[in-house]
This record gives sequence, C-alpha cells and structure tokens, in this order.
Amino acid sequence: MFLSRRRFLYGSAALAAGLALPVYDLSAQQSVTHVVARGDTLSGLARRYGVTVAQIQQANNLRSTVIWVGQSLTIPASASTAVAAAATTTHVVVRGDTLSGLALRYGVSVRAIQTANKLSGTQIRIGQRLIIPGGSGGSSVLIGNVRNETQRIQVQRERWRTIVVHHSGIRFGNASSYDNFHRTQRRMQHGLAYHFVIGNGVDSGDGEIEIGGRWRQQLNGGHVRNSAVNEVGIGICLVGNFMETHPSARQMSAFTQLMDWLTGDVLPRKPQFAGHKEIDRNHTVCPGRHFPLAEMHRRYG
Ligand SMILES: [Zn+2]
Repeated sequence: MFLSRRRFLYGSAALAAGLALPVYDLSAQQSVTHVVARGDTLSGLARRYGVTVAQIQQANNLRSTVIWVGQSLTIPASASTAVAAAATTTHVVVRGDTLSGLALRYGVSVRAIQTANKLSGTQIRIGQRLIIPGGSGGSSVLIGNVRNETQRIQVQRERWRTIVVHHSGIRFGNASSYDNFHRTQRRMQHGLAYHFVIGNGVDSGDGEIEIGGRWRQQLNGGHVRNSAVNEVGIGICLVGNFMETHPSARQMSAFTQLMDWLTGDVLPRKPQFAGHKEIDRNHTVCPGRHFPLAEMHRRYG
C-alpha cells in the first residue's frame, strides 16, 4: 500500500519529466510504445490503436499534435482492445467468493459463469478454477482512465471520509448533461454535484466512468442535503432509474472497480459507505430498490 501510494504521488512528476515510468502495473502491461515513422499523425495513430488523440496527448504530455520521426510515444490501452485481449479469464476461487460477487467483479452475468463451467447451482469451492467468459478482464479496464487522469490531481486524501452512491433517477444523461442541469436548474456554481458518473450505454458508455469537475478540483460535493457530509463525501452516480430497472453488469463492475481503487489505493482510511437514502433519510429512494445496496455494504462496510 505504501509503495503504491508513493508511486501514485510521483507519477505525474515522472510524466512531466518525460519519463515513461509505469505508475500502475496493470496499465503498463496494456500500453504499448510506438516509434513515430514518416507519415504518422496523431489522428492516424489514434485510429490505428483504437484510442483518442487526447488520450495519446495525455499519455505523453503533449500540448499540441506535433510529433516527429523517431519519437517514442506511449499508446495507452483502449477499453476495447483490453476487453478483446481478456476475452476469457480464469479465476481461482478464494474464501469469500460467491458467484454473484464474481459476476459483479468481472462484469458478466451469473448465468454466463454457470454455463461456461457447466454448473447447475451456485455452489463453488475454494481452489476451484472457473472460466470467466468475455469478462471485463477484472480490475483495470473500466477504472484505467480514472487512474490515469487522477495522477494529475492533487488528491486531498485525508479529507474524504465518506462515499455516497446515487442513481440519477432517469435513463438518460451523462456527466455533461447533469452538469448543465445542476448549473442552470439547481443553480450550483460548481455544476455536476457528483464526483463520478457511471454510464449505462445510453448517453455515455456502458460502465464508462466519467470524472466530474469536483473530483478534478477536489471540491465538496452537492449530492446530499447535509453540507457536512458534502464536505467530506465523494459522490458516485450511476445513470439510470433503479426503482424501475437494474444497473447493468458493466455499471456494477465499474462501480466495484472504482470503490476498490478509492478504498484500497487512494484513501488512507477506510471511508464510511452509504446509499443516498441512508444519509438523507425520508427524503429520497436513491439509489433505488434495484441497486444491490446490502451486497455493497457487505463488501465495503
Ligand atoms: Zn441521490
């Protein structure tokens, strides 16, 4: 833990110094180095590797689109190539594993794991090797961007004591549309009330984690009524109305990856975890009856 935090702190300095130091082992495994040849352009490389121009610029600390022959560029892994590379994963069952927990973690359904392993029930045993079909590859795919971008942020690690999960209450939207709504309708000066928004595939990717301005700038949230909680509470919003529908498997996988990273790597102390309705009692049904709050409490306290 100590080591990973040191690397976390020094990562942005290393990038600024032009050293392609791998700050996270997992992202390092997935990124590749491209030596620029005559005729290469950033947009051409972006198309070729399935990433955006901005991602290449960010990975290499480039302020423009100027590149030169012979230059070594780090090409960050795209979510799609990483998913394709991890089409099948083997998981060895450890104490505490459940089929539903593994399904959440890998972003697949319980039924898909059962089918791939010819299981008739939900019984699994410690040491058993399970095939995880077409999973999201475990811990790095959905969270990768958030980790990379957070390297540029001076996180106020001692400040954040609570993490509150929300649903957006509507099927549509993404970080930018909610930001607009919170600015214009709710008259919130800092816009988007949450620190992170996890998409459902309608207006942003299914399981895509968008970073809000309040995380980039380490500002208080505006996601609960109690301002003392907003001051120390990280707000995570999943797009959807979970009174009517369930969060998607990829949304839950992204959520658990985000929570594992925040509680394991970012925050020095285990934060309090709550669903919005547990903070603002009698005022809201958020995050909705179909969000697996009890299961998440078993996992995050
Ligand atoms: Zn809420």
